[in-house]
Amino acid sequence: MASESPIAADLLIAGGTLLTMNAERHVIRDGALAVCGDRIVAVGKREAVAREVQAKEIIRGERFVITPGFVDGHIHITGDPITRGFARGGEGDSPSEILSRWVIPIFRAQAPAEEAVAARFAALAMMRAGTTCFLEAGTISHLDAVMEALSETGIRGRAGAWVEGRAYNAADDQAKVSAAAIDILESEVGRYPDNDGQAKLAAWPILVGHSTNSDAVWRAAKDLADRHGLGVSAHMSPRASDPEWFLARYNRRPLEHLEDIGVLGPNVALTHLANIDESELDILVRSSTNAIFCPHAALQGGFGISQRGLFPEMLKRGVNVLLGSDGLPVGILESARLMARIFRDARCDQTIFPPTTILELATIHGAKAMGLSHLIGSLEVGKRADFVLHDTYTPEWGPVFDPVLQLALYAPPAVHSVWIDGLRVVEEGRATLLDEDKLVADARQVGADVIARTKLPGRSPWPVL
Ligand SMILES: [Zn+2]
Repeated sequence: MASESPIAADLLIAGGTLLTMNAERHVIRDGALAVCGDRIVAVGKREAVAREVQAKEIIRGERFVITPGFVDGHIHITGDPITRGFARGGEGDSPSEILSRWVIPIFRAQAPAEEAVAARFAALAMMRAGTTCFLEAGTISHLDAVMEALSETGIRGRAGAWVEGRAYNAADDQAKVSAAAIDILESEVGRYPDNDGQAKLAAWPILVGHSTNSDAVWRAAKDLADRHGLGVSAHMSPRASDPEWFLARYNRRPLEHLEDIGVLGPNVALTHLANIDESELDILVRSSTNAIFCPHAALQGGFGISQRGLFPEMLKRGVNVLLGSDGLPVGILESARLMARIFRDARCDQTIFPPTTILELATIHGAKAMGLSHLIGSLEVGKRADFVLHDTYTPEWGPVFDPVLQLALYAPPAVHSVWIDGLRVVEEGRATLLDEDKLVADARQVGADVIARTKLPGRSPWPVL
C-alpha cells in the first residue's frame, strides 16, 4: 500500500486483531484500521497502515478483537422491546390464539410516540450487542414515527409498515384489500428510498407473511423490490400451520406456491422455515432465496427445529442463511452459537457449524441478504465503517490463541465500542447518541401504558403478594 502522499483519516485504530471477513478471510494480528468520514480507508498490519495514514485521532487497539458489525436479519423493533415481560396467552390458548388475542392487540395498541420509544430502545440494545444493521420483521404500525426515531440512534436498517393483504371475512372485497396493502408498500418505498444501499435507513416491502397476504400483494412486493433494488422479507413456516393452510388452499406447500407465483429470488428473505420439506429445500436452492433462522425463538416456541430443521442442508447446498433475534434480547453472535449447538447435537456431529461458519452467518451472510454486500459485512477499504471492538482483556476471554474460535464459541458478549458509518455509536459499552437512562425509563413507562390500554389481564404463575 505504498503511496506518495499520506492517506487522510479521521481515526486510526492501531493494534488489535482484525477478523476482516474479506474474500480470503484474513485475520490480521497487530493490525490497524483507518476511517475517513463514513468509509474504511486502510486495513492491514499496524506498521504498514501507520506509515501510510495521517489520522486526526488514534485509538490504541491492542486489547481488542475487531470485527465487522453484526446483521440482525429479523427483529420486531416495536411491541416486543417494551412489552416482552408481560405474560402472553391464557389457559389452553393455541399458538394462533396467543397471536390473535394477545400479541397482535399489544402491538396494535401502540401510539406513534410509543412505537418511537420502542424503536429507539431496540436500536440501543442492538448496538450494545454489536449489531450495526437490522431487517425489521414487518410489524410496525406507525412507520414515519419509527423512522424518525431510528434516525437519532445511528443504526443502519431496513423497515416497512405492517401489511396484511388478505380479505379475512367473506364480506370483504379481496381486490380492494389487496389494493390498499399495495398502496402502503408503494408509498413507503417512495418515502424512504434505498438509493442503491447508500441510505442508512430505508423502506423495504416487508410482509408479515404466513397466510396473511394475497398473491396480488406478494407479487406487488416482489415487483417493487425488483424495480427499486430492494428486498422482500416475510415470516414462513415456523410451525406446521403454514404448510397446512397452503395445502388446504392451493394444494401446494408454501414455498411451492410462492415459486408458482414467481415471488422467490435472491432479493427475498424468509424467516423461520422450520417446517419445510425436501422439495421446498430444492426450491430455496434453485431460487437463491435467503433463509433467516432465529434459534432462540425457534427453541422457545417449540418449532421442532432440532428434529425437522434443514439448515445444515441449506448451508451445504449454498443457500444464504442468516440470523435473527426475532425481538428477543439476544445478540446475533449468541444466536449463531446457539444454531451451531442445536444442530451439532441434533445430528450427533460436532464438526458441523465450525467457528468460521458462525462468524460468516453473523456478518457477510446478513449483508448479502440485505443487498448490502458492496457496503458492509467485512473490513475492507472502501466499505462503510461499521465495526465492533470486542474487549479481550477480561476474565472470560483469557489469552487469545485463536480469535475466530474464541469469538465464535467461547467469549461472552464483550462489546466495548461500535462504529456505524464512521460514527462511534457505542463507547465503553454505552450509547453515545442516546440518553440511555432516560430511554430505559421511557421504555418502562410506555410499555406499562400500552399494556394498560389493551386491558389484557396480567398473569403470574405464582401468587404475587
Ligand atoms: Zn418474527
